[in-house]
Amino acid sequence: MNHKILILPGDGIGPEIVTEAVKLLDALKQTGDLAVELQYADVGGAAVEAHGSPLPEQTLALARAADAIVLGAVGGPKWDSVERHLRPEQGLLNLRAELGVFANLRPALTYEPLAQASTLKAEVVSGLDLMIVRELTGGIYFGQPRGVRTLDDGQRQGFNTLVYSEYEIERICRVGFDLAMKRGRKLCSVDKSNVLDVSVLWREVAERVGADYPEVALSHMYVDNAAMQLVRDPRQFDVLVTSNMFGDILSDLASMLTGSIGMLPSASMDADGNGLYEPVHGSAPDIAGQSIANPLATILSVAMMLRYTLDMPELAQRIETAVARVLDQGLRTPDIQSAGTRVVGTGEMGDAVVAAL
Ligand code: NAD
Repeated sequence: MNHKILILPGDGIGPEIVTEAVKLLDALKQTGDLAVELQYADVGGAAVEAHGSPLPEQTLALARAADAIVLGAVGGPKWDSVERHLRPEQGLLNLRAELGVFANLRPALTYEPLAQASTLKAEVVSGLDLMIVRELTGGIYFGQPRGVRTLDDGQRQGFNTLVYSEYEIERICRVGFDLAMKRGRKLCSVDKSNVLDVSVLWREVAERVGADYPEVALSHMYVDNAAMQLVRDPRQFDVLVTSNMFGDILSDLASMLTGSIGMLPSASMDADGNGLYEPVHGSAPDIAGQSIANPLATILSVAMMLRYTLDMPELAQRIETAVARVLDQGLRTPDIQSAGTRVVGTGEMGDAVVAAL
């Protein structure tokens, strides 16, 4: 049976990096390792231009019918000042919400040859292997009411609402515990329960769910401390589970531990394990069109797709090993270059991974 994969290139460097992911999928198809049927659709700014909406109906329909989606990135200066419902990022937020992909998995893993590329000392990040589990469809990014209102004194006031229901906290904590069981059996739940009522409930529910996982060591940390600890001693962590906004910020921070945001894949999954796979980074308009973007985060997102949605962990491992081999060979896109390495473009990096595979 062919797995249906929807490819959403998006904007900026999105089409460039997605081309390399498709190259890899095509290579696996040709060798008979993978039976997939690829479909393509527009999302983000590209969809606004072509269809007048950042998430056209036909894209959503294809997304719903697909087993998994590989997405590049959306956004760019061209759409920075358009109305909010036309913003490319709104298309992505709506896609995540419509698909119910509430669990965002963001691994941060330091490849040994890149330990030098981190802005932190190599001895702090060497051997790092952590997973941030971010709640993706709730919290302050979606809470109502929201908006900008004008007060009686004429002042404008912006407001958003942070809400989490028990079931939302419980299901994301379970994803965190299940992953911890397959990894180092340590889960750190990150909140701000010294200030936020939502976080008090979050902590209580995390404790309750933890009772079902006696083999996992559960700890709690305030988000400000977690940011500090991630820079001070990131190897203390195995799995971190946290809310939408905290996870957004902490996972970008964690990306620099690995050397470059261009190395970080992500998976966003629904309750059935179907998912949206995309790099953590954005559309990088500053380097778009130059063929210098790092495609490895997108290629590693394909590996996550194979592991988590298509249940092909061995093939996923082969891709990850191929990426490690290419780095061992000294090939680098500009964002991860260091002395003694050979700088290559987006296409050459993709070719090298296929060759190593
Ligand atoms: P960004 O991640 O696009 O770029 C931040 C920096 O990292 C830039 O200097 C960029 O050149 C670099 N970078 C990112 N990906 C890279 C790669 N693969 N290889 C090499 N260098 C890379 O973040 P930003 O500049 O804050 O946002 C740019 C646009 O992307 C905005 O419109 C933003 O809204 C959007 N965005 C989209 C997503 C998404 O689609 N998931 C995520 C974040 C930001």
